Amino acid sequence: MTEIIELKFERTNVFTRWPCTVCGGCTEKVAVLVEAKDSINGGDDLRVCEECLKRDDIDGELGRHADRLEADAQELRRLIGHLKVPTFAEWRAECERADAEVPTYAEWRAERGRADAEWRAECAAAPQSRTPQSLKPWQAAQGRERA
Ligand SMILES: [Zn+2]
Repeated sequence: MTEIIELKFERTNVFTRWPCTVCGGCTEKVAVLVEAKDSINGGDDLRVCEECLKRDDIDGELGRHADRLEADAQELRRLIGHLKVPTFAEWRAECERADAEVPTYAEWRAERGRADAEWRAECAAAPQSRTPQSLKPWQAAQGRERA
């Protein structure tokens, strides 16, 4: 292939991370992209991130990216015929069970109020012996005690 595709500066006001064709990574949220239409493979956008520009080894990076994609494809092919998964209906049913287990806000507030009352009673009964077990449940879960 002898065709050369020249990528040029494209200014953008859409500050997001754009995928980099060369390395498979992304740009930073930059105002100037380096882009072109892929006239060889059908016109998709080609883009080069600033890290690839900095490394200054575009063909090497393209080759390493292609190697990673091929390795990923081989990993996927090795899984063919080896995965046993629930059905969509089973997944939906499990989602419904999970949704049913989520407490309502009123239930959550009531449980938190009960735990808070227990904690206050425990502290009032023996304020000098506060141990990690006397932490409010949400504080214990965070591994720290509120002052
Ligand atoms: Zn890149």
